[in-house]
Amino acid sequence: MLQNKTHSTSSLKKILIIGGGPAGMMAAIELSKTHEVHVFEKGKTLGRKFLVAGKGGFNLSNSATEKSLFEKYSPQNFLEPILKKFDSTATVKWLKYLGIPTYVGSSGRIFPEKGIKPIEVLNALKNKMLAQKVQLHFEHEFIDFNKEQIHFIHQQKKMSIPFETCIFALGGASWSVTGSKGDWLTSFEKNAIQTIPFEASNCGIICTSLQKEFLEQFEGFPLKNITITCNNKLVKGEALISTYGLEGNAIYPISAEVRKNLHKNSSTSVFIDLKPFNSAEELQQKITATTKPKNYKYLFNLNKVQLALIKNFSSKEHYMNPTSFVELLKKLEIPISGLRPMEEAISTVGGIALEELNLDLSLKKIPNIYIAGEMFDWDTQTGGYLLQACFATGYHVAQNILARSTKNF
Ligand SMILES: Cc1cc2nc3c(=O)[nH]c(=O)nc-3n(C[C@H](O)[C@H](O)[C@H](O)COP(=O)(O)OP(=O)(O)OC[C@H]3O[C@@H](n4cnc5c(N)ncnc54)[C@H](O)[C@@H]3O)c2cc1C
Repeated sequence: MLQNKTHSTSSLKKILIIGGGPAGMMAAIELSKTHEVHVFEKGKTLGRKFLVAGKGGFNLSNSATEKSLFEKYSPQNFLEPILKKFDSTATVKWLKYLGIPTYVGSSGRIFPEKGIKPIEVLNALKNKMLAQKVQLHFEHEFIDFNKEQIHFIHQQKKMSIPFETCIFALGGASWSVTGSKGDWLTSFEKNAIQTIPFEASNCGIICTSLQKEFLEQFEGFPLKNITITCNNKLVKGEALISTYGLEGNAIYPISAEVRKNLHKNSSTSVFIDLKPFNSAEELQQKITATTKPKNYKYLFNLNKVQLALIKNFSSKEHYMNPTSFVELLKKLEIPISGLRPMEEAISTVGGIALEELNLDLSLKKIPNIYIAGEMFDWDTQTGGYLLQACFATGYHVAQNILARSTKNF
């Protein structure tokens, strides 16, 4: 059984971890090998967002290594040394040590072995913590802190716990139902720690110019095997037509570039290549080789949704001209007016500003406080990279605390 002990305000010279998501759990497992660790979680259970992630693909990491792993993160130079110490190979080994074998899917994503449910992965982490005597304090909502104490609300009462070393791992601000609301920014601001307002990342993109008739007919339809480009970023995959615009695995990784553009202008565009396996020249050759160059459906093997999408975003004149039709096929401009709200996003950017952090992820102004997970301002795409960084930052903080405590003996 999980313990749910309350504490008096008597001196607790232990390691406090606030937030029981993957970053906090990783730090707790590492530190509790040698230290007394207390995890404070506002919910009644650990890892609610971790379980939500499990409802989708549950990519625990990604088999990308070295440069191909590091370049997925922004800012890369900040995350790279952290990921070097705990990369995707280390995650796989660590999960195996916890009793969770994994496999690499065709896309390079790392999943728990078939038949292992997300709750079993979460339980493996919990059980390791309990075996190492981590004390779990549920329904403790962090509200504020100063250099000596952390203030919580527990059973409607305010309580204060003194600390020597504390890790915050409160998560970002998407899917607030999982507990990560990002409502802690003000308490850090009060302590003169600069924060950046949260924004949605890995989310759908809003396209108000999709016509009503198009949406009525094609909402929920996939655009398979496309590439989508924004600025210099190109993503391969699938997009889904939704009531507001586009979503899906080819869209989420592009949302960071869209966000950058929307900071400068109220609208931007993405470009879809509906035939990425054919060059424009190859497609043009198909036109010259046929007596029916306007029979696009058969000539280019297009389905109804692809044809209707092109129609939606082109003039009749361009659509009817086979040469300009090929240009549309290869580079269809889709105007974008916004990103979906944080509530629906897979992750967020923002939180603690990087300038406030030392390389060991302690706060420059209060160095016995560390930050891990989605709480500080970094970004990456879906595909296992988010959890990879949460595990890596939790590990990094734990190792640095261990190194510091060894020095102090
Ligand atoms: C739908 C969805 C699918 C996803 N799928 C994947 C995937 O397949 N692969 C992948 O890599 N990533 C995925 N992610 C992202 C991944 O789940 C997150 O990046 C990760 O959970 C963040 O970990 P964290 O420990 O930083 O924060 P969280 O997991 O958000 O944990 C933070 C914890 O802090 C607690 N907390 C918050 N505020 C307080 C407070 N005031 N007091 C006390 N406790 C508090 C919360 O209750 C929570 O338990 C997905 C996310 C979503 C929403």
